[in-house]
Amino acid sequence: GTNTYDPDPFSQIHKGNISGQEHPQKENATLLMLVRNEELEGALESMRSLEDRFNKDYQYDWTFLNDVPFTPGFILATTAMASGKTQYGLIPSEDWDRPDWIEDNKFTKCMNKMKEDDVMYGDSVSYRNMCRFNSGYFFRQELLMDYDYYFRVEPNVGYFCDLPYDPFKVLRERKAKYGFVISLYEYENTIPTLWDAVSEYIVEDNGRDVQMDRNYYGFITDKSQVGRFLPAVESNSDYNLCHFWSNFEVGDLNFFRSEQYLNYFNHLDSKGGFYYERWGDAPVHSIGASLLLKDEEIIHFDQISYCHPPFYSCPTAMYGRLDQRCICDSENEFSIDIRPHSCLMRWWKNGSGKHFIKEG
Ligand code: GDP
Ligand code: MN
Repeated sequence: GTNTYDPDPFSQIHKGNISGQEHPQKENATLLMLVRNEELEGALESMRSLEDRFNKDYQYDWTFLNDVPFTPGFILATTAMASGKTQYGLIPSEDWDRPDWIEDNKFTKCMNKMKEDDVMYGDSVSYRNMCRFNSGYFFRQELLMDYDYYFRVEPNVGYFCDLPYDPFKVLRERKAKYGFVISLYEYENTIPTLWDAVSEYIVEDNGRDVQMDRNYYGFITDKSQVGRFLPAVESNSDYNLCHFWSNFEVGDLNFFRSEQYLNYFNHLDSKGGFYYERWGDAPVHSIGASLLLKDEEIIHFDQISYCHPPFYSCPTAMYGRLDQRCICDSENEFSIDIRPHSCLMRWWKNGSGKHFIKEG
């Protein structure tokens, strides 16, 4: 189901920096884009931006995934845009399509209800496939098996400043497993029973994989001493709806492939909420990482300026912006980091609060 494309027509114009030759410290990593053929121009925009801001100096491979075969035009144009090697994978139907144990009638009823309630993407089957795939299957694709790290890229995103470091290297050196840039509140009507499923999982796990004294449970709930002073979005459960905006992610594939994460995912998946509701991969990844990783294994990349419309992050320090050739305005209302609808305040408070408590 998967093919590696040999960019033969381009072998003459590529600069010859094939994986790792000029950069001995290059990490075992790939840039990763799940994308549709129709999104080619957006894919090229994102690639051009990331190549300019980062990858031209590293030539990491690009991996493209799709639930239908990529067209020759898509393959040629993206290979021409890449400084590194490119490869293209077809996602097997078992990893993408609605499993047959999801009940037809119930599913249709739930979708119609979500459509009536104006839930975002509430009536989309393909969006649900995508969210479940990103939650539980992307890291098991054949093309990713030999990599340790991935950097998720979507069409039509942009990077407003030069990356000041190789984020893969930062993860490896700090023994971290997950890195994010933007954190927001989820729309509760997409995940009415997600937290019930998580709570049940936590009880069943019984402290084996979820270790409350070392994880970021306090960030996603307001159970910590510090969270309760911050403004929040109304929530009907203990989950405060904070999640890492997963359209940007730099992570360790081995974490997602671990028995711990898979147990967590399988528990959620068995509830059917990816289809009966519209659970997003962002809260699923975020809750998984916050429960299963040690706090120091999650990194906020505060010097990576990233835009996925409508929001972006932009460094507030002027000299940082100059140094990194930034093209962004940190005062703009869509510059999200210090706005009330960003979860970063909770992140900062929680991190410092935890460390303060530990030292005390
Ligand atoms: P949003 O960011 O939540 O509004 O969702 P997007 O439309 O950006 O989709 C998220 C990611 O999944 C993007 O990289 C899309 O290109 C990709 N995607 C969404 N639906 C499909 C699909 O049906 N097929 C494929 N191949 N990719 C998809
Ligand atoms: Mn998107």
